[in-house]
Amino acid sequence: MNYSKKTVYDADVKGKKVLVRCDFNVPQDKKTGEITSDKRIVAAIPTLKYLLEQGAAVIACSHLGKPAATFSSYVKKQVEKGKNAEDITEEEWKKSLKKLTLAPVAKRLSELLGTEVIFAADTVGEDAKAKASALKPGEIMLLENLRFDARETKNGEDFAKALADMADVYVSDAFGTVHRAHASTAGVAAFLPAYAGLLVEKEISIMGKALDDPKRPFVAVLGGAKVSDKINVINNLLEKADTVIIGGGMAYTFKKAQGYTIGKSLLEEDKLDYAKEMLAKAEAKGVNFLLPDDNFCASEFSADAEPVLVEGDIPDDLMGMDIGPKTVEKFAAAVKGAGTIVWNGPMGVFEFDRFANGTKAMAQALADSGAVTIVGGGDSAAAVEKLGFADRITHISTGGGASLEFLEGKELPGVACLLDK
Ligand code: AMP
Repeated sequence: MNYSKKTVYDADVKGKKVLVRCDFNVPQDKKTGEITSDKRIVAAIPTLKYLLEQGAAVIACSHLGKPAATFSSYVKKQVEKGKNAEDITEEEWKKSLKKLTLAPVAKRLSELLGTEVIFAADTVGEDAKAKASALKPGEIMLLENLRFDARETKNGEDFAKALADMADVYVSDAFGTVHRAHASTAGVAAFLPAYAGLLVEKEISIMGKALDDPKRPFVAVLGGAKVSDKINVINNLLEKADTVIIGGGMAYTFKKAQGYTIGKSLLEEDKLDYAKEMLAKAEAKGVNFLLPDDNFCASEFSADAEPVLVEGDIPDDLMGMDIGPKTVEKFAAAVKGAGTIVWNGPMGVFEFDRFANGTKAMAQALADSGAVTIVGGGDSAAAVEKLGFADRITHISTGGGASLEFLEGKELPGVACLLDK
């Protein structure tokens, strides 16, 4: 995949209407609807400010949550949750949509930009079209939640075209959704010249370089709960990395594949053959493949469980919850002196303080390494932030799913559709 894409700096936007796909999918308080973290809105500011300063009229858009775009899809969801179809009303559905309006985001965005953000009551309807048409250079508006229209996630061509019709240029700045082929993330690029925003540019240039032309040694650290989630990542990284480190719950399937007993630890029985295959592939390719030697175990999956340090075979009544000190030392040594390190997935059940040490130690090792360090989104990003190492990491990806698919080597529709440099 080509990661060298034209950016907003290459686009002539003066006097043009620019449709910017942002990631305003912010967490909200369930009861009050209040935005509990405006990090994603803050992150969008540099691209939006740049475009406004260049004299563009900016039409920002985003999704928020997973609204049921039609009454029938709402009924289906509720029935799946155990509700009786006859009891579900259209009013209830409309109320559920109101909770996912982007209006509070428009307000916060306006505060952060220090300028009015015009809010459209719909996505490609009369209100949006009229407001977009009246929008002047230096002004910004925000469309209502794109997922209120079922055609957004279905990548409906007519919806993509309707979005495109309001603008002259398209900018993609929502890295968290580039792995999805939706109307606003990919479809729209068929109708407008498409450029990367500053957030997307940073993600693809740093991660693209790490995969295509890494400073070596290139070390990949993988963890988390499930082997099955990361099958393609491991497979792809074995082609590129010098060392692959596996920790977290997924390590135990590999340990079992090596012939160790793993007690009550996480196991994906149906992935044992795959694990053996990967161990053989690592050997054939000369990739240093590191697994835990000692583990902090527990008799039950609980925050209060007493950690028991076990080396080698794990007895029947215990489960591996975190990597042990010898393993930390081994993993840290492998990370030291690396040129590039990519990390995705915690080394243990870091949500429980007693079992957070391995993850903490890895974060520390990355921070101290002097390497180009990239942390994939999701849990490992949360861990690095929670543990206070965020500012010592080169790049923390803003997209969980997107960064995983990136590491899998998959083509990302929201990146592939942008103009090549
Ligand atoms: P993932 O979403 O696959 O990156 O997995 C993250 C989750 O894996 C976190 O919630 C961790 O608590 C969990 N995890 C990490 N290590 C273990 C382990 N040894 N046993 C059970 N869960 C684990």
